[in-house]
Amino acid sequence: MHLLYIDESGSDEHTNFVLGAVAVFEGEIEQISKQLDDLQTHYFPNDPNLVEFHVRELRARSLQRGSNFTQQEFFKLIDDIASVIVGAHPFGLTLFGTVVHRPSYPDQDHYNLAFEDMCKRFDSFLVAKHKSGHPSKGLLILDRSAQESEIQRISTEFKAFGTRWGKLYNIVDAPLFAESHTSRMIQLADFVSYALFRRYEFGHARDLDKITRRFHQTDGVLHGLKHMISRREECMCAACVSRVE
Ligand SMILES: [Zn+2]
Repeated sequence: MHLLYIDESGSDEHTNFVLGAVAVFEGEIEQISKQLDDLQTHYFPNDPNLVEFHVRELRARSLQRGSNFTQQEFFKLIDDIASVIVGAHPFGLTLFGTVVHRPSYPDQDHYNLAFEDMCKRFDSFLVAKHKSGHPSKGLLILDRSAQESEIQRISTEFKAFGTRWGKLYNIVDAPLFAESHTSRMIQLADFVSYALFRRYEFGHARDLDKITRRFHQTDGVLHGLKHMISRREECMCAACVSRVE
Protein backbone atom coordinates (compact mmCIF):
# COMPACT_ATOMS: atom_id res chain seq x y z
CA MET A 1 0.00 0.00 0.00
CA HIS A 2 1.20 3.50 -0.88
CA LEU A 3 -0.10 6.29 1.32
CA LEU A 4 -0.35 9.74 -0.22
CA TYR A 5 -0.10 12.46 2.42
CA ILE A 6 -1.39 15.77 1.07
CA ASP A 7 -1.05 19.34 2.32
CA GLU A 8 -1.97 22.68 0.78
CA SER A 9 -0.49 26.16 0.54
CA GLY A 10 -1.77 29.51 -0.69
CA SER A 11 -4.91 31.40 0.22
CA ASP A 12 -7.33 33.55 -1.78
CA GLU A 13 -5.07 36.60 -1.86
CA HIS A 14 -2.25 34.66 -3.52
CA THR A 15 -1.72 34.08 -7.24
CA ASN A 16 -1.14 30.36 -6.80
CA PHE A 17 -2.82 27.50 -5.02
CA VAL A 18 -0.63 24.51 -4.25
CA LEU A 19 -1.14 20.93 -3.21
CA GLY A 20 2.06 19.16 -2.20
CA ALA A 21 2.17 15.48 -1.38
CA VAL A 22 4.44 12.63 -0.43
CA ALA A 23 3.62 9.05 -1.38
CA VAL A 24 5.18 6.67 1.10
CA PHE A 25 5.26 2.89 0.89
CA GLU A 26 3.80 1.51 4.10
CA GLY A 27 7.01 -0.34 5.03
CA GLU A 28 9.06 2.87 4.95
CA ILE A 29 6.93 5.07 7.19
CA GLU A 30 8.52 3.99 10.47
CA GLN A 31 12.07 4.50 9.22
CA ILE A 32 11.39 7.94 7.72
CA SER A 33 9.47 9.06 10.83
CA LYS A 34 12.38 7.97 13.01
CA GLN A 35 14.79 10.09 10.98
CA LEU A 36 12.58 13.11 11.58
CA ASP A 37 12.28 12.25 15.28
CA ASP A 38 16.09 12.11 15.40
CA LEU A 39 16.21 15.62 13.91
CA GLN A 40 13.96 16.83 16.72
CA THR A 41 16.27 15.24 19.30
CA HIS A 42 19.22 17.00 17.66
CA TYR A 43 17.67 20.47 17.29
CA PHE A 44 15.38 20.52 20.32
CA PRO A 45 17.11 18.28 22.91
CA ASN A 46 15.34 19.94 25.82
CA ASP A 47 11.82 19.89 24.39
CA PRO A 48 9.92 16.95 25.91
CA ASN A 49 6.94 17.47 23.61
CA LEU A 50 6.74 16.52 19.99
CA VAL A 51 7.84 19.52 17.92
CA GLU A 52 5.74 19.80 14.80
CA PHE A 53 7.90 20.32 11.73
CA HIS A 54 5.66 22.91 10.09
CA VAL A 55 7.96 25.21 8.18
CA ARG A 56 6.11 28.44 8.97
CA GLU A 57 5.98 27.65 12.69
CA LEU A 58 9.64 26.66 12.75
CA ARG A 59 10.54 29.93 11.08
CA ALA A 60 8.44 31.87 13.59
CA ARG A 61 10.12 30.02 16.43
CA SER A 62 13.56 30.96 15.08
CA LEU A 63 12.55 34.62 14.97
CA GLN A 64 11.25 34.78 18.55
CA ARG A 65 13.21 37.04 20.81
CA GLY A 66 15.36 34.98 23.14
CA SER A 67 14.72 31.74 21.26
CA ASN A 68 17.53 29.21 21.51
CA PHE A 69 16.57 27.98 18.04
CA THR A 70 18.42 30.37 15.76
CA GLN A 71 17.71 31.34 12.16
CA GLN A 72 20.90 29.57 11.16
CA GLU A 73 19.59 26.40 12.79
CA PHE A 74 16.25 26.89 11.05
CA PHE A 75 17.88 26.86 7.61
CA LYS A 76 20.02 23.89 8.61
CA LEU A 77 16.94 21.97 9.79
CA ILE A 78 15.12 22.76 6.53
CA ASP A 79 18.10 21.37 4.62
CA ASP A 80 18.10 18.27 6.84
CA ILE A 81 14.40 17.64 6.20
CA ALA A 82 15.08 17.93 2.46
CA SER A 83 17.91 15.42 2.90
CA VAL A 84 15.54 12.93 4.54
CA ILE A 85 13.32 13.18 1.45
CA VAL A 86 16.19 12.91 -1.02
CA GLY A 87 17.86 10.08 0.90
CA ALA A 88 14.77 7.88 1.23
CA HIS A 89 14.67 4.56 -0.61
CA PRO A 90 13.59 5.24 -4.23
CA PHE A 91 10.73 2.75 -4.01
CA GLY A 92 9.64 4.02 -0.63
CA LEU A 93 9.03 7.73 -1.24
CA THR A 94 7.79 9.70 -4.25
CA LEU A 95 6.68 13.32 -4.41
CA PHE A 96 3.64 14.84 -6.11
CA GLY A 97 2.60 18.43 -6.58
CA THR A 98 -0.06 20.42 -8.40
CA VAL A 99 0.23 24.19 -8.74
CA VAL A 100 -2.83 26.08 -9.97
CA HIS A 101 -2.22 29.56 -11.39
CA ARG A 102 -5.49 31.10 -10.18
CA PRO A 103 -5.88 33.81 -12.87
CA SER A 104 -5.74 31.09 -15.55
CA TYR A 105 -8.85 29.48 -14.08
CA PRO A 106 -11.23 32.28 -13.11
CA ASP A 107 -14.51 31.29 -11.48
CA GLN A 108 -13.33 27.78 -10.74
CA ASP A 109 -12.77 25.97 -7.46
CA HIS A 110 -8.99 25.84 -7.32
CA TYR A 111 -8.89 23.26 -4.57
CA ASN A 112 -11.02 20.89 -6.64
CA LEU A 113 -8.90 21.47 -9.74
CA ALA A 114 -5.71 20.64 -7.86
CA PHE A 115 -7.20 17.73 -5.93
CA GLU A 116 -8.61 16.10 -9.06
CA ASP A 117 -5.32 16.52 -10.89
CA MET A 118 -3.35 15.05 -8.01
CA CYS A 119 -5.68 12.03 -7.69
CA LYS A 120 -5.19 11.30 -11.39
CA ARG A 121 -1.42 11.57 -11.11
CA PHE A 122 -1.29 9.29 -8.08
CA ASP A 123 -3.55 6.75 -9.77
CA SER A 124 -1.34 6.77 -12.90
CA PHE A 125 1.69 6.22 -10.66
CA LEU A 126 0.01 3.17 -9.13
CA VAL A 127 -1.00 1.84 -12.56
CA ALA A 128 2.65 2.14 -13.66
CA LYS A 129 3.71 0.28 -10.51
CA HIS A 130 1.23 -2.46 -11.36
CA LYS A 131 2.56 -2.78 -14.90
CA SER A 132 6.13 -3.06 -13.62
CA GLY A 133 5.22 -5.98 -11.40
CA HIS A 134 4.66 -4.08 -8.15
CA PRO A 135 0.90 -3.92 -7.69
CA SER A 136 -0.07 -1.65 -4.83
CA LYS A 137 -3.20 0.12 -3.73
CA GLY A 138 -3.17 3.75 -2.69
CA LEU A 139 -4.80 5.68 0.10
CA LEU A 140 -5.16 9.46 0.41
CA ILE A 141 -4.48 11.12 3.77
CA LEU A 142 -5.14 14.82 4.31
CA ASP A 143 -4.29 17.23 7.09
CA ARG A 144 -7.37 17.38 9.29
CA SER A 145 -6.56 20.74 10.84
CA ALA A 146 -6.36 22.52 7.48
CA GLN A 147 -9.53 21.01 6.13
CA GLU A 148 -11.82 20.63 9.13
CA SER A 149 -14.73 22.42 7.51
CA GLU A 150 -14.14 20.77 4.16
CA ILE A 151 -13.86 17.14 5.17
CA GLN A 152 -17.34 16.13 4.14
CA ARG A 153 -17.14 18.11 0.93
CA ILE A 154 -13.82 16.56 -0.08
CA SER A 155 -15.06 13.05 0.61
CA THR A 156 -18.12 13.72 -1.53
CA GLU A 157 -16.04 15.35 -4.27
CA PHE A 158 -13.65 12.41 -4.25
CA LYS A 159 -16.48 10.00 -5.00
CA ALA A 160 -17.70 12.32 -7.76
CA PHE A 161 -14.21 12.45 -9.29
CA GLY A 162 -14.07 8.65 -9.32
CA THR A 163 -17.40 8.52 -11.08
CA ARG A 164 -16.42 11.19 -13.59
CA TRP A 165 -13.28 9.30 -14.66
CA GLY A 166 -15.11 5.98 -14.86
CA LYS A 167 -12.94 4.56 -12.13
CA LEU A 168 -9.99 5.43 -9.95
CA TYR A 169 -8.30 2.12 -10.53
CA ASN A 170 -6.00 1.86 -7.59
CA ILE A 171 -7.03 4.41 -4.97
CA VAL A 172 -9.11 2.85 -2.25
CA ASP A 173 -12.43 4.03 -0.99
CA ALA A 174 -12.32 7.53 0.51
CA PRO A 175 -9.64 9.86 1.89
CA LEU A 176 -8.59 9.67 5.53
CA PHE A 177 -7.73 12.66 7.70
CA ALA A 178 -4.80 12.83 10.10
CA GLU A 179 -3.66 15.30 12.72
CA SER A 180 -0.56 17.05 11.46
CA HIS A 181 0.98 17.25 14.92
CA THR A 182 1.03 13.46 15.20
CA SER A 183 2.01 12.56 11.67
CA ARG A 184 5.57 13.17 10.51
CA MET A 185 4.40 12.25 7.00
CA ILE A 186 1.84 15.08 6.95
CA GLN A 187 4.69 17.33 8.07
CA LEU A 188 6.74 16.17 5.08
CA ALA A 189 3.79 17.03 2.82
CA ASP A 190 3.78 20.47 4.43
CA PHE A 191 7.44 20.82 3.51
CA VAL A 192 6.70 19.89 -0.13
CA SER A 193 3.76 22.32 -0.43
CA TYR A 194 5.85 25.05 1.24
CA ALA A 195 8.74 24.50 -1.21
CA LEU A 196 6.35 24.58 -4.19
CA PHE A 197 4.59 27.69 -2.93
CA ARG A 198 7.86 29.56 -2.35
CA ARG A 199 8.99 28.71 -5.88
CA TYR A 200 5.79 29.56 -7.76
CA GLU A 201 4.54 32.48 -5.66
CA PHE A 202 7.83 34.23 -4.91
CA GLY A 203 10.39 32.72 -7.28
CA HIS A 204 12.45 31.30 -4.41
CA ALA A 205 13.57 27.91 -5.70
CA ARG A 206 16.11 27.05 -3.01
CA ASP A 207 14.07 24.35 -1.28
CA LEU A 208 12.26 22.98 -4.33
CA ASP A 209 15.51 22.56 -6.26
CA LYS A 210 16.76 20.20 -3.56
CA ILE A 211 13.81 17.81 -3.86
CA THR A 212 12.72 18.13 -7.52
CA ARG A 213 14.42 14.86 -8.46
CA ARG A 214 12.09 12.97 -6.10
CA PHE A 215 8.89 13.92 -7.95
CA HIS A 216 7.47 11.03 -9.95
CA GLN A 217 9.13 11.04 -13.35
CA THR A 218 9.96 8.77 -16.24
CA ASP A 219 12.15 9.52 -19.24
CA GLY A 220 12.70 13.08 -18.08
CA VAL A 221 9.00 13.96 -17.80
CA LEU A 222 7.90 15.17 -14.38
CA HIS A 223 4.62 13.26 -14.22
CA GLY A 224 4.37 13.95 -10.50
CA LEU A 225 4.50 17.75 -10.79
CA LYS A 226 1.91 19.73 -12.72
CA HIS A 227 1.77 23.47 -13.29
CA MET A 228 -1.79 24.35 -14.30
CA ILE A 229 -1.41 27.60 -16.20
CA SER A 230 -2.70 28.95 -19.50
CA ARG A 231 -0.02 29.54 -22.15
CA ARG A 232 2.07 26.81 -20.56
CA GLU A 233 4.34 26.81 -23.61
CA GLU A 234 5.71 30.15 -22.37
CA CYS A 235 6.49 28.91 -18.85
CA MET A 236 10.03 27.84 -18.13
CA CYS A 237 9.44 25.95 -14.89
CA ALA A 238 10.74 22.37 -14.64
CA ALA A 239 7.24 20.89 -14.81
CA CYS A 240 6.24 22.79 -17.98
CA VAL A 241 9.58 22.40 -19.73
CA SER A 242 9.60 18.64 -19.19
CA ARG A 243 6.31 18.18 -21.10
CA VAL A 244 5.96 18.05 -24.84
CA GLU A 245 2.22 17.30 -25.00
ZN1 LIG B 1 5.24 26.13 -15.46
